[in-house]
Amino acid sequence: RIRASGGHGVAEYQVESEQENLCRFMESRALYRALREDRVGIALQAQVDLESGAIVGAEALARWTEDGRPQSPASFIPVAEASGLIVPLGGRVIELVCDALRAMERAGFPDIPLSVNVSPLQLGRREFIDELAAMVARHGIEPRRMEIEITEGAVMSDYQDGRELLARLRRLGFGIAVDDFGTGYSSLRYVHSLPVTRLKLDRQFTAGVGEQGGSANVADMIIALGRRLGLDIVAEGVETPDQVEWLRRHGCPCAQGYLFAHPEPVEDFIARLRGHGCPCAASGSGRGCVC
Ligand code: C2E
Ligand code: MG
Ligand code: MG
Ligand code: MG
Repeated sequence: RIRASGGHGVAEYQVESEQENLCRFMESRALYRALREDRVGIALQAQVDLESGAIVGAEALARWTEDGRPQSPASFIPVAEASGLIVPLGGRVIELVCDALRAMERAGFPDIPLSVNVSPLQLGRREFIDELAAMVARHGIEPRRMEIEITEGAVMSDYQDGRELLARLRRLGFGIAVDDFGTGYSSLRYVHSLPVTRLKLDRQFTAGVGEQGGSANVADMIIALGRRLGLDIVAEGVETPDQVEWLRRHGCPCAQGYLFAHPEPVEDFIARLRGHGCPCAASGSGRGCVC
């Protein structure tokens, strides 16, 4: 940490942010190389029906390992967004999701959908839908097997365009989930009028549901809102049996989180599906099972 002589807060901040800029620049160069060399992959995290315990889907998450060290999406996704690399990265992730759907089909699981995160920058490109439609067609994938996860901000910068874009995706048959629901702004203004199919209750609300107080009330409200609007709901970041109990009691049909499964390689997810659909059968980890 560099401190300018006699430095006060401002000077110190500038030095630090230059270092951060350099780090981001280095990271984007490394990510660019990784993409070019086809070293970016995906992991799948199971989504579980809270009544039956069956696996009803999975979310695809980008994975990048550099010199044997897994890189955190919380760091490289923002870097990819700032540098524009999110466009080729996101395209590659969608292609890998198509491959995974084909592999699941071959393994006898043609009806389990996968969700894919799409950033506002990708979604905002004119070519996005045509490229997506061409990609799934080329792989022989029906769009209903793919759910597009968007964030609240993605469609709000231009509401009319965003609405039309989502409507086109729906007409093609893709599912549309609002990721991290409740953390953005103006959710209530638009959620009833946008053609989305599912709300993802953000992890910060799930975290509070075992306890009394604020975030449990918000979680309760979001679940009620989703049900009222006829939307599907999935709770993110479920880590404890108490949370499962609470979510069940409050009418949340579906969840994902470390309690059930961590994000894992596609082959491991398929092995998990083979374990009779019970999310714990394949892991043998002894983590709290709700099946
Ligand atoms: P997200 O879409 O909200 O994904 C959920 C994140 O929560 C994942 O982190 C997942 O590993 C983590 N998670 C799942 N269950 C639990 C749990 O029980 N406890 C805790 N503490 N965490 C849990 P990950 O893989 O690090 O991804 C972080 C974010 O990066 C994602 O948040 C998403 O916004 C973004 N991201 C990841 N892959 C992609 C991608 O392919 N494209 C885009 N645009 N964004 C991506
Ligand atoms: Mg997501
Ligand atoms: Mg999320
Ligand atoms: Mg999140």
